Amino acid sequence: MQALSINNLTKVYPGGFKALDSISFAVKQGDFFALLGPNGAGKSTTINIITTLVKKTQGEVSLFGHDIDKALNVAKSHVGVVPQEFNFSIFEKPFDILVQQAGYYGVPAREAKQRAEQLLKQLELWDKRDVQSKALSGGMKRRLMIARAMVHHPKLLILDEPTAGVDIEIRHSMWEFLTELNRSGTTIILTTHYLEEAQKLCRNIAIINHGKILKNGSMNSLLGELENEYYILTLNSTCSLSSAQCEQLQSFNLDDLGDNRIGVCVNKREGLNPLFAKLTELGLIVSAVNPRNNPLEQLFLDIVQGDKS
Ligand code: ADP
Ligand code: MG
Repeated sequence: MQALSINNLTKVYPGGFKALDSISFAVKQGDFFALLGPNGAGKSTTINIITTLVKKTQGEVSLFGHDIDKALNVAKSHVGVVPQEFNFSIFEKPFDILVQQAGYYGVPAREAKQRAEQLLKQLELWDKRDVQSKALSGGMKRRLMIARAMVHHPKLLILDEPTAGVDIEIRHSMWEFLTELNRSGTTIILTTHYLEEAQKLCRNIAIINHGKILKNGSMNSLLGELENEYYILTLNSTCSLSSAQCEQLQSFNLDDLGDNRIGVCVNKREGLNPLFAKLTELGLIVSAVNPRNNPLEQLFLDIVQGDKS
């Protein structure tokens, strides 16, 4: 069964701006899925339509087989949401916020308190349970939102930019928490503009830009599509390129990056061997080779830049 299924979803905001242009994608139960795209791509609009915060213009959205237009409550009872903006009362205490939320979903009081304790401990907020939430740091507030989204044991957790503005240590502990949660069966969908995050966590991704899905598939197959790779070669410090040598290397379109470093974009199928052969012939020694970007970043740039042209 699909946890989420979106068909030809369109959103035109009042004023006429088309934020989503007939997008379709699905997320399988048990998946860890990223909706990846730059700012303004339409990620939050998509999430907010799924959670009915924003009204769609056209199209269908189903959660666990239930159309949100027809069976909103059934659909919602399976879903926990962590919105992009903090939206709890800063005057309330974390423990109370969780218990209240559980009550809203009909969890009995005793169980709600147990659940609140368990989640606050898991998310390292237990010692803050009785302070006003305004005293929490940004990372703690984000974790409180995650705990709140989990009180009713949702089968699907949706997080809108969960690690935006969160420091690196907290980000890593959040990644661990989410990975563990997914391993124990919860389907997770997150939006992010951090490529590294999507690559690290997610099995499937959709890349969105200007309200359109540009790519949708498994992370591995998307990475496999990368045709070109940019490498930076460092030449042995005793070597420096003479202009005669440069001329002989012209067909490789090298970038002289200074400090004995050259950049080259090569087709993956051809690889670096022809260049190495030529460098060897010219008596030049390569002491290091590094790819410039992480591969997903490269793919992302290729796709988003291709979208502009
Ligand atoms: P993302 O979450 O990917 O950064 P959003 O879904 O928030 O993108 O926004 C997508 C586009 O829709 C942006 O151009 C944004 O300015 C526009 N937009 C978002 N909310 C509204 C609104 N309430 N009214 C008009 N335009 C909006
Ligand atoms: Mg957003």
